[in-house]
Amino acid sequence: MTYSAPRTVSIFGATGSVGKSTLDLIRLDRQSYRILALTANGNAKELAKLAREFDAEVAVIADAGQYDALKDLLAGTNIEVAAGPESLIAAAALGADWTMAAIVGCAGLPPTLAALKCGKTVALANKEALVSAGHLMMAQARDAGAVLLPVDSEHNAIFQCLQGGRIDQVRKITLTASGGPFRTWTKEQMASVTPAQAVAHPNWDMGAKISVDSATMMNKGLELIEAHHLFPVGLENIDILVHPQSVIHSMVEYHDCSTLAQLGSPDMRIPIASALAWPERMTTNCVPLDLAKIGRLDFEAPDYDRFPAIQLARHAIEAGGAVPAILNAANEVAVAAFLKGDVQFLEITKIVSRIIDSYSPPEPNDLTDIFGIDKETRERAIAMIEDARV
Ligand code: NAD
Ligand code: MG
Repeated sequence: MTYSAPRTVSIFGATGSVGKSTLDLIRLDRQSYRILALTANGNAKELAKLAREFDAEVAVIADAGQYDALKDLLAGTNIEVAAGPESLIAAAALGADWTMAAIVGCAGLPPTLAALKCGKTVALANKEALVSAGHLMMAQARDAGAVLLPVDSEHNAIFQCLQGGRIDQVRKITLTASGGPFRTWTKEQMASVTPAQAVAHPNWDMGAKISVDSATMMNKGLELIEAHHLFPVGLENIDILVHPQSVIHSMVEYHDCSTLAQLGSPDMRIPIASALAWPERMTTNCVPLDLAKIGRLDFEAPDYDRFPAIQLARHAIEAGGAVPAILNAANEVAVAAFLKGDVQFLEITKIVSRIIDSYSPPEPNDLTDIFGIDKETRERAIAMIEDARV
């Protein structure tokens, strides 16, 4: 890469699937990037290892109980150690040239907003933040003049396809979906799936939460909301198409009936590389696409009866106000309960739907409102799950 000086980079969620893929790419071109902050939730050992390897300026662990462990692990280095959610915000406010927002869940919202406020470039993987607080995040990016680069493979694909025209020339955006591990399963078969089956995605290697979301197809619902905020073409102009091979990552159709698509191997390092080097292109060691070997690409309409989560998300964005934040928080709780073995697979979407119907708080105006809704929704979802078990 040929920047005039090394880019300063901070990675929120450095120990996760997206965080580690980002660091893999930086390993390929160390001299172009200087690491400011690396963060993790509770894995002090892994965070310390990465902070040492990349000579980070700051290492932040969200779990304050891990502060001493991290401090010990980084003894003898110049790396500053911090802990707790407030320290995540402070690290984001350092204002790296390029910030990767790759914390999973709404917990990533405060540092992402703080990074946007610096007016630099934020690469966004943390879709839950955008689902819960899309208006707030987009307004913050606009007000601060920040560049928000989508990392989710579909949204990164759309972003790339939009280099071929203008948003007001778009007729339709098509988000592709692999269909997840249960694409061909009946509801009866899905009734008894285990967490291990749900996290075993056929094409992508991802964190546990997003893997379960892909299996229920709530992931596509969250991505619909994400696309709605990132690409203002109207919700009715965003379609979902099941494409089991995950080769076409999404498409943009223009008014002249030209459709641009972005293709690539299903490897998150490809969209991450596009965001990391943007507006340049970097060389990666990812596997290039071999279409002759793949042979064929298949497409089918989503089955909303077996995968109701997609329509639930569409209704949430239509309803607006607090509903997308409720959908997200209820889903985070239900997925965590499923992973612990406390609820059945098909109950995940039912819990989300019931919680949405259970109350209607006023429209959130700020971060305090969002976290109020998030907290109450979590309490309601936990109570609902506990009630069902007694
Ligand atoms: P992951 O579970 O592998 O990693 C999550 C990271 O966030 C870890 O570093 C963890 O320590 C940190 N974290 C978790 N909870 C936290 C908390 N409460 N406070 C602070 N830090 C916390 O997740 P992932 O698969 O890398 O996904 C990260 C985000 O990117 C998610 O929003 C996901 O939807 C999105 N995304 C992931 C992929 C993928 O291929 N993995 C693709 C598209 C989008
Ligand atoms: Mg995606």
